[in-house]
Amino acid sequence: MRPETLETLRCPYCGGRLELSAGQFHRMEGDAIADGILGCHCCAFPVVAGIPVLHLLPAAGAALGHLDAARPDLAMRSLFELDGDPAAAARFEELASSATATYRDIVEALGPAFEGGYFLYRFSDPTFVVADAVVRAVASTILAGGGRAVDICGGSGHLTRSLVDVAARPPVLADLHFSKVWLARRFTAPGCEAVACDGNSPLPFARGAFRFAVCSDAFMYIWTKRQFVQEMLRLTDAGDARTAVVIGHTHNQLTWSPSHGQALPPDGYRDLFETIEPRSFAEAGLLHDVVGGALDLSRVDPPETLEHDPALTLIASRFPSVFSRHDVAPVLTARGEFRLNPLYATAEEPGGVRARLRFPSTDYEEEYGACRRYLPDDVRLDEATLAALPAAEADGPLADLARRRVVLDLPRRYY
Ligand SMILES: [Zn+2]
Repeated sequence: MRPETLETLRCPYCGGRLELSAGQFHRMEGDAIADGILGCHCCAFPVVAGIPVLHLLPAAGAALGHLDAARPDLAMRSLFELDGDPAAAARFEELASSATATYRDIVEALGPAFEGGYFLYRFSDPTFVVADAVVRAVASTILAGGGRAVDICGGSGHLTRSLVDVAARPPVLADLHFSKVWLARRFTAPGCEAVACDGNSPLPFARGAFRFAVCSDAFMYIWTKRQFVQEMLRLTDAGDARTAVVIGHTHNQLTWSPSHGQALPPDGYRDLFETIEPRSFAEAGLLHDVVGGALDLSRVDPPETLEHDPALTLIASRFPSVFSRHDVAPVLTARGEFRLNPLYATAEEPGGVRARLRFPSTDYEEEYGACRRYLPDDVRLDEATLAALPAAEADGPLADLARRRVVLDLPRRYY
């Protein structure tokens, strides 16, 4: 954890600044804290593998005890919830110290309940495709003037990765699960800073620490929604208009969807903001825009459009150019490497392969079938194109395949 990130942290409970307890066990990497104990007016919190753990759940208490005994390895084991299973802990530690282990290897070692396998298809699912376009459009507009971004309840950092692309300073990823943010720093969004914290508590950052805050595909699972929105507004209260809060893909109480959560109706979401009128967008319209190559955030969706869409995006900003038309440009230089989208199964044929779209399950198809709007059922790749993968640049025929999301910029060692 870099000094500039420590500077923005506040205790979620007393609001006090956090400082490294220099008299206790700690380990630095240059001027960054790798492992150690942070103190405020009221509590002590562990930092493990560069990640501060700013909640009071049992795993945090156990990790603190291990750090006190100068055992960061055991603290990590507690935070990955592998204390009770020495065989799984040994398997995980072997993979974590291996330079060739993939994201998938580690996810599988953490057990079938973890991530559920959907991470593999995340980068082309419609929920992500819309959130990625909205985040790139709004964050690049806001952060062109400087400042930092935070991705709250960002899981293992798939959207934080988009923020790394558009922000000059390292974005912060916050999530309850230590294991997810650890994976983000290692694989999905290298270069981000990560914090483990509880979205149902006050958020552990100073007022105005960020100019852009996003929470995507998670808000309907937050119980303390009113507090959460007011916290997002506090975090982005930088003293001028050049800030934005985005709540992406939150379910609609009026229209059922899989993994419904504790959704609110469109009016209920709007009322959470109190001091600023957010603009609400039906997700179907945003997906239509993204497929067409330009996101029109100047649109005002009428109430009946909002009521009938299973998912909504809310944007609160006083910066007028946020609510304009934004081109959606395909990424042609990989942050990781261009590879064939894992939703395609390939069969060899003379001179190349035929790639066919196939879904991992009927549940996946029900929830994410709208990806057929941009993913072709069937596509032919010639030998030279195939031989170019994995690629750093999408040029020649790869550019068109990248635009259609048949090839994707995936993190290195993803699967
Ligand atoms: Zn405190």
